[in-house]
Amino acid sequence: MADTESCPLHCPSLEEIAAVLEGGLKKNYAEVHVKVVDCPDLTQDPFGFPVKGLSGKSRIVDVGGVPYLLPTPQLDKIYDINTVAKKIELPGAYILGAGACSHKSVGMIAEMIFSIKAESRTSPAVNGNYMASVNPGDNSCILEKYREKFSDNDFGLLSNLYASEGNPGKVIEVKVKRRTGKDNFVSCMRKSLKEHYQDKAVGMGGSFIIQEGKAKLHVMPREFAACPLNTDEDVDNWLHFFNMKAPLICQSVFVSHDPGFDLRVEHTHCFSHHGEGGHYHNDTTPDSVQYLGYFHPAEYLYRIDRPAVTHMIGRD
Ligand SMILES: [Zn+2]
Repeated sequence: MADTESCPLHCPSLEEIAAVLEGGLKKNYAEVHVKVVDCPDLTQDPFGFPVKGLSGKSRIVDVGGVPYLLPTPQLDKIYDINTVAKKIELPGAYILGAGACSHKSVGMIAEMIFSIKAESRTSPAVNGNYMASVNPGDNSCILEKYREKFSDNDFGLLSNLYASEGNPGKVIEVKVKRRTGKDNFVSCMRKSLKEHYQDKAVGMGGSFIIQEGKAKLHVMPREFAACPLNTDEDVDNWLHFFNMKAPLICQSVFVSHDPGFDLRVEHTHCFSHHGEGGHYHNDTTPDSVQYLGYFHPAEYLYRIDRPAVTHMIGRD
């Protein structure tokens, strides 16, 4: 696998981050409650993760990038989660986040929703990833458990990941209701960190539930476009957009400031237990929406296989 760069992130106390998030979210939601709590057991419903928590040696990992997808895809960009875990010096890591499937593995373009424990010296990988694709028959969404169809632990093109030992521990609980601002839930948190910490980069990962309402999500079509996608408008015309219903469980990674690694600064993919999933844009029901999330800051940033030639298309 290609080059890996890394740097420490600014990692304030959970209490301090909670106060900053609460201040920013109050400008965008009618009801906001942010506090430090013991992480709920994430092996339980609705999460069903292979680990209990989000604590221990936390890292943000940005692998590949949108330039490997656009304007034309480089389908040979394939990564393996066990190698990623070794590259970030955390074999056996629990990894959540948002990215793309390996075309070689699944034979099409599809969204990956990460929830996977990498292999360690003593235990095999536990792959709880989901994949979302477009049904070519009726353009509906198909959400599948990756391990029910494939036995590898690969992904492709790009991914934004939060890795940790998956230990129980303290996390920041964020509860909001009724959106009054324009930005989505993750952008609100990211921008409030940026405003407070400026060029000190704070990276966060976690899982949140859209408990009430509906949300705009996209899923990439199975086939790539016949022509190169050169603008955001081209990309929007290629993607399939859906209005999906709660409850949606969303795997989210965000960084307040890019310290010069050509990062995608936020990326969130959602799964559900009713067959819907994909890439989160925003809720479409601001008056009734409710979010509940658990987040943890990362100590280090790792950048794997950064594209040599970059652009800012398709990063929404
Ligand atoms: Zn995505």
